[in-house]
Amino acid sequence: MRVPMIAGNWKMNTTVSEAIELVNELRRGLDEIDNVDKVICPPFVSLATVRELIRGSSIKLGAQNIYFEAKGAYTGEISPLMLADLCEFVIIGHSERRQYFNETGEMINKKVQAALRAGLKPILCIGERLEENEAGRTEEVITEQLRSSLAGIEHLSGLVIAYEPVWAIGTGRAATGKQANKTISFIRRIISQKYGKEIAQDLRILYGGSVTADNAAEFMRQLEIDGALVGGASLKANEFLSIVKQTSEIKQVT
Ligand code: PEP
Repeated sequence: MRVPMIAGNWKMNTTVSEAIELVNELRRGLDEIDNVDKVICPPFVSLATVRELIRGSSIKLGAQNIYFEAKGAYTGEISPLMLADLCEFVIIGHSERRQYFNETGEMINKKVQAALRAGLKPILCIGERLEENEAGRTEEVITEQLRSSLAGIEHLSGLVIAYEPVWAIGTGRAATGKQANKTISFIRRIISQKYGKEIAQDLRILYGGSVTADNAAEFMRQLEIDGALVGGASLKANEFLSIVKQTSEIKQVT
């Protein structure tokens, strides 16, 4: 049985005081919802504060990025050891990092390896761009992203995959539940070929891309989709709470 997961990627939003306000709005409501792993990923500067605010609750904490070296002269970077002290999850390979910060498959692979070594659980993002989708290359792109990101990794140890078609991120143009389910089922097959059926069956694969309270149910009703990585809608407490609540209800009966 895979425990569903909803992760909120706050991206480069919220000052520390805004983060405090948002967590205070979320905390009680999220704590009342069972059967779902609830993860929030605020900006680095708020992690320590948020960690104190959610202490004793069922909310889990994640970061949005990581550097792959353990320490040293890498001005401005945040190491796996620093994060392991603060949070449980870390988003790696988000399409915004691939697109705006030129992250390559090789870098993402190093980051995944570094996170796992430090005991962090990566939320590894993969997904095709619009032109790749339109050219019918989704499976080819996904296969290559999985190959490069997971090269040399023998144990997935809590890793989660987020399938995020780039054309659906922040655009308001979500995939359909069926489309996402089909690609996620393909991802599980690739994982099964590399790691075996049992590991693939236990692996959580989320959908991400313009998930809102209005369309969340469509995704959560799909058997292969184990939850969502939510960007914009995770900044509105009511919207995020509604997505988590619907996930809990739907996944209990499907
Ligand atoms: C994301 O940031 O991973 C994301 C899916 O964003 P949005 O929900 O805003 O499309």
